[in-house]
Formats: sequence, structure tokens, C-alpha cells
Amino acid sequence: MPTYEYECQVCHERVEAVQRFSEPALTTCSSCGGELRKVFSAVGIVFKGSGFYKNDSRSPAPSSSTPAAPAAPAASAASPSVTTTSE
Ligand SMILES: [Zn+2]
Repeated sequence: MPTYEYECQVCHERVEAVQRFSEPALTTCSSCGGELRKVFSAVGIVFKGSGFYKNDSRSPAPSSSTPAAPAAPAASAASPSVTTTSE
């Protein structure tokens, strides 16, 4: 199920919601009643194992499907310090 991130336009509180496509988007901040805007971030397209899909990574990836990192709680994905690997 996709995870959507919203930001309140009034208090700038970030809200993460796991919704089905059929569910209506959140529009109201639960804290202040302000308008929520959907945030399009890199959340959801973070590749597990850096360089796994990148051509410039020459280091041989272990072919055995090692379980990537201990399952992080979904909430951690919402941290503002999402490092998008540019280049
Ligand atoms: Zn708010």
C-alpha cells in the first residue's frame, strides 16, 4: 500500500498516511485544522542496498539475497533527512 506524506500549510506538521488508491486524500490537519498538501518525496523509492541498481557501482553485490538491513519501522522512512543519492 502506498504511503503518502502530507504537510500542513499552516503549522507545517508532516503527516504520513498509508492509504489505498481508492481512499480520499487527507485534506485537513488533525492538529490545527489547516490545509494539508501532499508531499512528493523520495520516500518509497529508496533502494535497499546502495548501488544495487546503479551501474557506476562496480563493487560486486552479493548474489545471495541477503536480508537488507533489519526491518526498519515504517515511521523512520518519514524522517526529513532522507538521503537521495544524487550521482
Ligand atoms: Zn496544522
